[in-house]
Amino acid sequence: MEKTGGKGLSLARRLYATRTLGLAAGLLCVAAAMYPLDPAPWVWALMLFNGIFWPHVAYQWARRAEVPYHAEHRNLLVDAFLGGFWVAAMQFNPLPSAATIAMMAMNNVAIGGLRFLLVGTVAQVLGMGVGFLVFTPAFVPQTSPLQLYACLPLLTLYPLALGWICFRQATTLGRHKRELLALSRTDSLTGLLNHGAWKDQLEIEFQRCKRLPQGGAIALIDIDHFKTINDTYGHVAGDIVLRQLSKMLKQNLRAADVAGRYGGDEFCVILPDLALDRAATTMDALRDRFATLGYEQSPALKVSLSIGLSAFNPAHDDAMLWLNDADQALYEAKTTGRNRVICSGDGKPRHELLDSV
Ligand code: GH3
Ligand code: MG
Repeated sequence: MEKTGGKGLSLARRLYATRTLGLAAGLLCVAAAMYPLDPAPWVWALMLFNGIFWPHVAYQWARRAEVPYHAEHRNLLVDAFLGGFWVAAMQFNPLPSAATIAMMAMNNVAIGGLRFLLVGTVAQVLGMGVGFLVFTPAFVPQTSPLQLYACLPLLTLYPLALGWICFRQATTLGRHKRELLALSRTDSLTGLLNHGAWKDQLEIEFQRCKRLPQGGAIALIDIDHFKTINDTYGHVAGDIVLRQLSKMLKQNLRAADVAGRYGGDEFCVILPDLALDRAATTMDALRDRFATLGYEQSPALKVSLSIGLSAFNPAHDDAMLWLNDADQALYEAKTTGRNRVICSGDGKPRHELLDSV
């Protein structure tokens, strides 16, 4: 209910501006066509009401309605009905009649598509019918030069205003679409790529590694004993640790590296164009730095990381096998004592590898 109201209100606001401009320009056009027909005072009064006061009445009506969206649809039907009425009143004077019908059709199709164009056309025909009953049916076959000039504001300003509004709406929609796409790919707690988005990047990196000779590595990072951290220091402290790790990943990785939150306390990184030993050095430095971090709210808290690394292997048929290698290495890091980096296939902690060099 709330949603419909909001939507209707913004539509009413948009229509208020275009209706005010369109009907003022329309008044000039209709008045020039009606003047030679010497209409009765009430016709002039109705013309003035429609051209000047109706946009404000329509807006207030929609604004105060329980569902402004429905009220605006009714207002648009009134617009169409009165448009048809004036076409009959002008005795089908060609240019003012064509301008009135064309502007209304453009308005209706822009707001409600084909369906509203049809409904609006029916309302217009009804308006013409009432016009026939009120005025003597007749046909004025020619538009005078003065009447032509009087139609120019309607023919130029109104399409310009409607086009501008459609353009602005398209721009806003485009921006919203980009923002939604970014949101759907982002992990809300850490601001890193989420599971699905990171896996998409992994697939892209896998295909790139297949084409090019540089190779690359991926890392799976898991916080040690995170459940205990949550249980001891609380989930808020746990969230701070997760954010701290994501911040460290953002600050310490290269621009080309792609970090994501795999899920829970597990993170993932793509390290393009990096040999496994260099990737291991980078990850070991990260592990080391993270282990020494202090936390203001929980000074006793120390957090370590287990990291599994695997290099791109051309023998693999798909990216999931590459990921599986990193997962195996992470499992080994966990089962051999935690707080270490293990490279897929070697089974040795990173610091032992460095010692043996
Ligand atoms: P291990 O060393 O084997 O990794 O043990 P662990 O305690 O870290 O075990 P595990 O990785 O399975 O624990 C993950 C925990 O992370 C469980 C879950 O309650 C917690 N968790 C998952 N998402 C969040 C989150 O967004 N915030 C917080 N604070 N905790 C989370
Ligand atoms: Mg864990």
